[in-house]
Amino acid sequence: MGILSCAVVSQAAGLSAAHHIQIELIPGAKKLIGQNDITIKPNGTESLEFRLSERATRIEVQINKNPRNFDFENGRLRLMLKPHERFAELQITIHYAANFDDPVPVQPINMDNPGFGVTATISEKGSFLLAGAGWYPELVNSSANYRVTVTAPSGLIAVTAGRSLGHRIKNGKTVSDWEVNYPVEGLSLSVARYVVEEKSVGDVTVATYLLPQNRHLAAAYLAATAGYLSLYSDLFGAYPFQKFAVVENFFPTGYGFPSYTLMGGRVLQLPFIVGTSLGHEIAHCWWGNGVYVDATQGNWSEGLTTYVADYRFKEMKSREAARDHRRQWLRNYSTLVAPQNDFALDRFQSRYDPVTRTIGYDKGAMVFHMIRRNLGEEAFWGALRDIYRNRLFRRTSWSDLQDAFETRGKRSLQEFFDQWVYRRGAPRFSLAGVRAEHTGSIWNVKGQIIQRWPYFSFPLGLALKTRKQTAVQKIFVSGRAVSFELNSDHRPQKLIADPEDDIFRRLSPSEIPPAVNALKSSPSVMTVLSEKLNPELKKAAGILALSLGLKHNEFVTESELDRQMLAENDILVIGLPSRKDLLQKMPARVTIQSDSFSLNEKVYEKPFGTFFGVFEHPVAANRIAALFMPLSPQHADVVARKITHYGKYSYLAFQSGKNLDKGIWPAETSPLVYEWDQGK
Ligand SMILES: [Zn+2]
Repeated sequence: MGILSCAVVSQAAGLSAAHHIQIELIPGAKKLIGQNDITIKPNGTESLEFRLSERATRIEVQINKNPRNFDFENGRLRLMLKPHERFAELQITIHYAANFDDPVPVQPINMDNPGFGVTATISEKGSFLLAGAGWYPELVNSSANYRVTVTAPSGLIAVTAGRSLGHRIKNGKTVSDWEVNYPVEGLSLSVARYVVEEKSVGDVTVATYLLPQNRHLAAAYLAATAGYLSLYSDLFGAYPFQKFAVVENFFPTGYGFPSYTLMGGRVLQLPFIVGTSLGHEIAHCWWGNGVYVDATQGNWSEGLTTYVADYRFKEMKSREAARDHRRQWLRNYSTLVAPQNDFALDRFQSRYDPVTRTIGYDKGAMVFHMIRRNLGEEAFWGALRDIYRNRLFRRTSWSDLQDAFETRGKRSLQEFFDQWVYRRGAPRFSLAGVRAEHTGSIWNVKGQIIQRWPYFSFPLGLALKTRKQTAVQKIFVSGRAVSFELNSDHRPQKLIADPEDDIFRRLSPSEIPPAVNALKSSPSVMTVLSEKLNPELKKAAGILALSLGLKHNEFVTESELDRQMLAENDILVIGLPSRKDLLQKMPARVTIQSDSFSLNEKVYEKPFGTFFGVFEHPVAANRIAALFMPLSPQHADVVARKITHYGKYSYLAFQSGKNLDKGIWPAETSPLVYEWDQGK
């Protein structure tokens, strides 16, 4: 599921400064009053420039306690320095006030943007001020240490990066103090009526800042956080910060910041977050928020974090779970990234849609998997430890990673990086001319791997299955065709190329069962309202189309749908259609009636059940048909919002809005599998 995303802070070299930011929040007026005391040595610079929100007013500047004139334009505040000031240590004080009131979404439908465009908002419910929103004067092209003091109405506690110096009551107000003593370029701030729980894990403070109604979640988050910190400290080296906090936001975001994560309450309540997204955000403290990304050469941190978190958790579960996960990456790439939308991994910056997500996260992770297969365990993990030790808080690029892997692996990876990182695309290959001959006591199997252009070079496993055993042999593939020859003592039954899905490739259409993702990436959809549709379900149909992010979608009624429209579009049918031909390719494990449906031998009745399925199109090969079938309007809106999160599934059944069954239709054939007729 794509709930969380990560704000990875990029660093600029240059001047170093120490800030003491003092904020007084006035939530009733959606306003803050700020004072920033900055200690800096300008190193000969003639002027200093600060980013500060365009919404700032009542600005006053002092240098060494004397008032100073300034320019303030387009969110930039400029001070000219006198010659004698340019090499001295200066005390600069900036006073300002600002209103921040970005509208906050209550129940967002599309989750592609992790912050829903909100950069800064102050309210009675809570405040959220994102780094880069200019809520404090930030010295351009500098790295800085910070002390942050936030004064707010009683009970409102502030959280930011770094170490908490505690919360206290002063003159009936709550004061929160924070200290950040490693170089960061931008700070975000969250303020709400938090219940704080803390626990020490070695030298690190693990904390939760939850709203009162979710305080019962603290124990599970504290325990899981402690577990992840020790997992990654063992794997990569000591955790780089003094705390890690799980912070609840008052609207549904998913952000990972250096030393804390900020999630909406509803997200925190989801049972799988502790086991997946939390670990991903914590892994970012090493990769992205610890070792920084050199954004000029693409963002490698999402691929690596996905590999060492989301994927590694599957691997810790079982070999099959890990393999299924890799297969899912291949399915995502093959269905969500059309060749004309594809781009090289080193051009990925951040995700904002399924294509960027699939390349940056899924392909990125698969590339790290292939490096690991190529170098072996010791060199792969050793190189990651080297990178972490040598490049903590430094901008790091794909080529720095390549260097580290080459050093540990003692070989050039230039060709590998050229084809997987710096070039777009993925290989497409198949088995051809497979035959077996029985000579003497030996079976001799011959065949070829044929590639379509563009060609890639990679090691490939070939698994030959007999009644007695499965033997895997490696060959090296490059160019258009490679011949191979295998011997076996027993009659061969099945030959499988890349049996473990270790190679990143574009699957053939026959290997991809129709799934929700195919609908999400469809170039054109007709949403067909069935003839006898309950009018109340039209709203749910609209929510569904919106949450799936359908780009070219048109609503028609069943009678308006003519032959040409049907042949030229994917279709999404709402409710049980009168025309039976629309659903003729629906697999036999589903039966639909007007008041009930059955799936996998379970019956769902009106008014509680809802079915959603994606299957083959009734008339057009390579197109798909989908059915959204709520048995009543009662839970239809709720389910309509949820379906988009089940991208990889072919079918879903909901009872009273809760998912009860989900699955993928079995894949039909693969060009990487050859089966001998038995008995011949
Ligand atoms: Zn991430």
